[in-house]
Amino acid sequence: MNSNIVFIALGTNLGDREENIRKAIQKIGKLPKTAIIKSSSIINTKPVGITNQPDFLNCVVQIKTILDPEKLLLELLKIEREMGRIRKQKWGPRIIDMDILFFNNEIINTQDLTVPHPEILNRKFVLTSMKEIAPEFVHPIEKKTMERLYKE
Ligand code: ADP
Ligand code: MG
Repeated sequence: MNSNIVFIALGTNLGDREENIRKAIQKIGKLPKTAIIKSSSIINTKPVGITNQPDFLNCVVQIKTILDPEKLLLELLKIEREMGRIRKQKWGPRIIDMDILFFNNEIINTQDLTVPHPEILNRKFVLTSMKEIAPEFVHPIEKKTMERLYKE
């Protein structure tokens, strides 16, 4: 079975934020044929877009999985639901948000999935966390390492 290397961004700004991150990572690690390889430090970040909401805790995990992108997305959405996330406004407060940043070196543009995630370059915390755990990883569209994108 071919395994995939995937980076997932986690964010939370409601309830016990540290516990939400911990629980989400634990649930990701329990998905079929999936293992957590690395976790970044957890960073406190100011909300983007809608700014009158609590600060976020964010981090990035690197996983190895045999799930394909669509199946992984469904599993992540299921974990979000299990953890009680209610989808209200885009960029609004949430118990947990999990976004697929990179899926191997693949470029995916379907109705449900845009990979690499389009906000990577606009979110400093993502580049901070990516640089921490995978400085040499190359963005498949930008063709630059995380280290370099972080510095730009
Ligand atoms: P956001 O993360 O932009 O604040 P949501 O988490 O509510 O908003 O968006 C969820 C939807 O975004 C998913 O149902 C999924 O179809 C879509 N989506 C597109 N690309 C991605 C990606 N790379 N990772 C996660 N979800 C994605
Ligand atoms: Mg999301």
